[in-house]
Amino acid sequence: MRVLILGGTGEARRLAGLIAGEFPVVSSLAGRTSTPLLPAGRVRIGGFGGVAGLAGYLRDTGVRAVVDATHPFAAVISRNAAEACAATGVPLLVLRRPGWTAGPGDEWHRVASLPEAAALLPRLGRRVFLTTGRQGLAVFAGVDGCWFLSRSVEPPSGAVPRNLTVLLGRGPFTVEGERELIAGHRIDVLVTKDSGGSAAKLTAARELGVPVLMVNRPVVPGTRVVSTPEEAAAWLRTPDG
Ligand code: NAP
Repeated sequence: MRVLILGGTGEARRLAGLIAGEFPVVSSLAGRTSTPLLPAGRVRIGGFGGVAGLAGYLRDTGVRAVVDATHPFAAVISRNAAEACAATGVPLLVLRRPGWTAGPGDEWHRVASLPEAAALLPRLGRRVFLTTGRQGLAVFAGVDGCWFLSRSVEPPSGAVPRNLTVLLGRGPFTVEGERELIAGHRIDVLVTKDSGGSAAKLTAARELGVPVLMVNRPVVPGTRVVSTPEEAAAWLRTPDG
């Protein structure tokens, strides 16, 4: 009986590395990136076909437990996992790294969504560092009067802001590198989702006095939630998991 890890994050890869020698494990990736970093154990790539498709996969392949270790902003697959696990009776654990907390010297403006961030943006700055991922770029296409520096793993497709420079890159990044990037491009506002994890860009923004537009996380649709791969591995070793 295998464990299914819904992945696409560093935490998911670390969990697969922790348990691959103990249990049969399959990691699932959406297939968004052309050269994904692959975890230990087996890997499948591509969508399941909604809740019904995922529930069918759980039944057909004899999955005994699911760990939803997807990105905090991958809300659709997390909701699908909660519904498919409820329908099939397969135990579900959500693995989510903690979000960020503002500290002394930070000027953060929290909003509930990317469209809210786009609406507030022109009041905060004109030279924008966008780190919200290429899928969110279209939301900023209608924002006038701003210049954008966007960083993503893959090049954007679809609508993008008119004044846009794209930087391709995959983290983790260093505080020194982020400081150079922000200062070098005379960035006066940073837009980010509250993804958690490495906070180099936030440290650099604080040091340079640059305000941050922070998009809050969607609500986690699971009842059992842990924040580290080690806790998830421990759960899988209990009768519950
Ligand atoms: P999403 O909006 O929550 O999901 C859209 C659809 O993609 C899902 O309905 C599902 O298709 C498929 N999918 C998503 N994650 C999958 C997985 N791990 N395995 C198989 N199918 C998956 O997801 P998203 O925000 O586009 O993110 C896609 C992937 O990139 C996730 O694995 C996530 O961990 C990773 N990621 C996302 C972000 C982000 O900011 N959103 C950042 C870094 C990494 P079906 O309905 O056909 O099953």
